[in-house]
Amino acid sequence: MKEFLKKSASALSIELTDEMLEKFQIYFDFLLETNKSLNLTAITEMKDVVLKHFVDSISIVSYFDLKGKKVIDVGTGAGFPGIPLAILNPDTEFVLADSLKKRLHFIDQVTEKCDLKNVTTVHGRAEDLGQDTMYRERFDYCVSRAVASLPVLLELCIPFVKQNGYFISYKSETLQQELGQAKHAMQELNCSLYQEYSYTLPETDYYRVLAAFSKNGPLKKKYPRQAGKPKRNPL
Ligand code: SAM
Repeated sequence: MKEFLKKSASALSIELTDEMLEKFQIYFDFLLETNKSLNLTAITEMKDVVLKHFVDSISIVSYFDLKGKKVIDVGTGAGFPGIPLAILNPDTEFVLADSLKKRLHFIDQVTEKCDLKNVTTVHGRAEDLGQDTMYRERFDYCVSRAVASLPVLLELCIPFVKQNGYFISYKSETLQQELGQAKHAMQELNCSLYQEYSYTLPETDYYRVLAAFSKNGPLKKKYPRQAGKPKRNPL
C-alpha cells in the first residue's frame, strides 16, 4: 500500500515522508477492519482506496497552501478529505464535521491511532453548526466531498468561511451542470467561483475537479436555513 501511495502522490508532485506513509497505513488497516462492522466505504480494493480516497483527498495541496490555516471538512464521513489532509499538514488545525456520530467515533479512534494532534471532530448538522458562533465564519478553508449538489452545498459550507477565505468543493463530471444550477445560491450567499482545478487520478482516466469559491462580503444572518431546508428547497 505504502509504495503505491508514494508513487501515486508523487505523480501529482506531492511527496510523502515515511512518517506520513506510516500514518496512512494505520488509517488504511483500521478503515478496512472497521468497515466489516460499520458502513464506512464501498471502496475496499487497495488501489482504489489509495487513488479514490487518499490521493483524491490530498490533491488540493497541489493548488492551496493549507499550512498554519484553519480548515473544516463538512460531511467528512470516514474522514475524507479531512484525515489525509491532516496527515500532510500537521501544523494546520482541522475540524471534521458530520451528522452521524458513529462515523465521528471511528475518526476519533483514527486520530488517536495515528497520533494526529491537529484534528477535532464535531457532531451536528452543517445547518446548525453554521449558525453557531464557534464555527460561523471561523475558517480559512472549508472543504467538502460527496455531500450534496452545489446549490445545497454552498448554503451548508459558505457560512463557515471567514472573509477572504475559500470553500473548496471536490467534484467531477457534474460540476458545470451544478454551477449552472447554483447561480442564485451564489448571489444569495455572496460568493463566487474563484477558480477550477481539474486533474485525473494517476494512471487512470478518473476525472476530478476542485471548484474553489471565494466569499465576497458579509453573509445574511438567515443562512444557513434550518436543518433539512437547504436540501428540500435549494436556493
Ligand atoms: N466526505 C466523505 C467522502 O467523500 O467519502 C463522506 C461522503 S458521504 C456520501 C456524505 C456524508 O455527509 C455522510 O457521512 C453524512 O452523514 C454527511 N452529511 C450529509 N448531510 C449533512 C449535513 N447536513 N450536515 C452534516 N453532515 C452531513
